[in-house]
Amino acid sequence: MAGVFEQSGSARNGGLKVIVVGGGIAGLSIAAALGETASVTLLEREGHLGYHTSGRSAALFSETYGNELVRALSVASRPAFVEGGFFEHKRGALHFGAPGDDTGIDALASAQQQLVPSVRRLTAEQVEELVPVIARVTTCGGVFEPDAMDIDTGKMLQAAAAATKAAGGRIVTGAEVLEISRHAGGLRVETNAGTFETDIVVNASGAWADVVAARAGLSPLGLSPKRRTAFLFDAPAGMDIRSWPLVVDLRESFYFKPDAGRLIGSLADETDSPPCDAYPEDLDVAIAVDRIEQSTALRIGRPSTPWAGLRTFSPDRSPVAGFDPRLPGFFWLAGQGGYGFQVSLALSRFSAALLSGVSIPQDMVDLGVTAGMLSPDRFLAPSKYQP
Ligand SMILES: Cc1cc2nc3c(=O)[nH]c(=O)nc-3n(C[C@H](O)[C@H](O)[C@H](O)COP(=O)(O)OP(=O)(O)OC[C@H]3O[C@@H](n4cnc5c(N)ncnc54)[C@H](O)[C@@H]3O)c2cc1C
Repeated sequence: MAGVFEQSGSARNGGLKVIVVGGGIAGLSIAAALGETASVTLLEREGHLGYHTSGRSAALFSETYGNELVRALSVASRPAFVEGGFFEHKRGALHFGAPGDDTGIDALASAQQQLVPSVRRLTAEQVEELVPVIARVTTCGGVFEPDAMDIDTGKMLQAAAAATKAAGGRIVTGAEVLEISRHAGGLRVETNAGTFETDIVVNASGAWADVVAARAGLSPLGLSPKRRTAFLFDAPAGMDIRSWPLVVDLRESFYFKPDAGRLIGSLADETDSPPCDAYPEDLDVAIAVDRIEQSTALRIGRPSTPWAGLRTFSPDRSPVAGFDPRLPGFFWLAGQGGYGFQVSLALSRFSAALLSGVSIPQDMVDLGVTAGMLSPDRFLAPSKYQP
């Protein structure tokens, strides 16, 4: 399993000490990708791994989701998802339009087909056949991505933790990073569980990435945590929902998807939030229920188990992966937004290459990914480059 995370062309550099801050998919996947090329210690504030956003996702992999760079990172992640056995089910993803939305649906279909040739434009009848709770008279048809996949996110987190430990890495939970300072050519990391000395700190602290940077004396990059709410509800009586895709309306104002015999619903909200243990707002659940019921024959009744998580975006909605020019040894791995799982296996390979001083993996170069596109430099004024 460790091979899934390993970077290609890795330099053996076991003497390099790396502290990873954050035990979500970002921190765990980079810790695993470094493998034996560094001496890795992962520090997580909470009592267990994956407590925050990584434990709250909708677990979908879609190659048409996100901006161009996000999509390239997702495409580059796909082979490792297959190799690691992290795809759970071929789910598919359907965008559908209301009557009169034909122009928007046609435009979406042609844009998505250019990226993913298997994407198909569906008629209203085909939409109804695929998802019978959408009546043909209430839709102009849709755009279907057949190869979108359900991800086994729990398996990914566990596999990355196991690979980290198998390579000799350490994972310390209940360890909050309080201060990062320069020390003897490297960095000193103060936590509530002791002090660590290291060559490199990887800031993979999700919604707290700007907070952790401030604890290293750095001004923020402008990352924005945004709350997204989801809940579960029962499938319509007697209806087999197992083959339904993820269904989202053209304007992305709600979505629903099958999950272990029930359905996940969401408002697809992006509400600004400070970094925190996010909780769902009743109103967001109520609005999502109303939108789903208005657009489909689903009758949700009492939604259950609502939850919320923070999707953290950089100012250009692409992830940030690279060294901060203001503090030698401080590396950002943040801003994964709503795509943190689907990009993780490429983004961690890319980051491990930068951390080990080897070339960016060729498959990502071929997809047009450059270090500059992901670098924190793009959010820093030139005057701030001086350490
Ligand atoms: C409702 C919802 C649906 C989503 N659906 C999808 C989807 O379908 N597909 C997809 O790919 N992505 C999806 N996402 C996004 C994905 O879940 C995130 O991009 C990803 O989990 C972010 O991972 P992370 O490791 O950066 O953050 P986190 O999982 O939040 O991990 C960061 C960790 O850092 C720790 N930390 C913070 N500060 C400190 C400190 N000072 N010291 C020590 N530790 C610290 C935190 O405790 C936390 O555990 C969804 C998100 C939500 C909320």
